[in-house]
Amino acid sequence: MEPIKCEMCGSNDIVKSDGLYVCRHCGTKYTVEEARNLFYASETAKLENLYSLARRHADTKDYNSARQYYKEILLIDANNWEPIFFASYYTVCCSNYNSIDKNLKDFVNMFPHVLDAITDESCEGNLRQVADKTSLLASLLFNSFANTYNDPAVNKYYTAERLEFNDHYLTVDAHVLADMLYNLGDSIDARWQGMFKSIVCRLWDQANLYSREGGCNRSKIAHYEKKIALYDCTDLVRNKIIADKEHEILQNEIKRKKNDTRAQIIMYVIMTLAFFLLMWTCNRCLS
Ligand SMILES: [Zn+2]
Repeated sequence: MEPIKCEMCGSNDIVKSDGLYVCRHCGTKYTVEEARNLFYASETAKLENLYSLARRHADTKDYNSARQYYKEILLIDANNWEPIFFASYYTVCCSNYNSIDKNLKDFVNMFPHVLDAITDESCEGNLRQVADKTSLLASLLFNSFANTYNDPAVNKYYTAERLEFNDHYLTVDAHVLADMLYNLGDSIDARWQGMFKSIVCRLWDQANLYSREGGCNRSKIAHYEKKIALYDCTDLVRNKIIADKEHEILQNEIKRKKNDTRAQIIMYVIMTLAFFLLMWTCNRCLS
């Protein structure tokens, strides 16, 4: 627990004496009630400070600090959706090759807790943030392999945020990402009983995209396609086509890049051989 701070002089050196709290620095006395108010005021100020630090570090893509601040907030404000979600989210963003599987599992296990914490009237905005961030995370992980190809033609199709993982080369199976999105979509749909059709359909649709990529059984994809059609979210079909198209372009660019690299190697070998041939011929001519 944080020590309370004297209102008059700012000192933390406050002791209990004869049923009152006394500042040993300036001598100001506080009743129990006043001391309690001082305590809450200092907790509130501390919490506000931690939230602004966490958000600021997240904005500047310092995910390690953002994660640490959100974890600290959780110790004080354990039932708020924001630290519950983002402590886990930024832990995934800080993952490396060895920790990504475990961190993703923890992230999915966190879904029931964050949904429990979203209880207020204005839950739609918060749910949308959770869904959008999870969707972005899946897309970042799905595309992270493309980071190795630092080609503007490829990068053009992805937001700058794709580079959130810096140089980490993360590989995650497409079906793991699909299951993560199905899970969140199903959970939101079950809890709010079809109230947020567009949010859940977007998650299911993206999950289907990765399912196709991961060679998932067709019946699962068909099951969610049927649900999307049932919810009449036709605009998502258009998004799917765009996403498929973008993916196809990305794959072609990567193939082209690989071929370019191969061509460069062949050229290099030919040039080297030509150089030695030239040297050998010159040698012969001179001697
Ligand atoms: Zn004082």
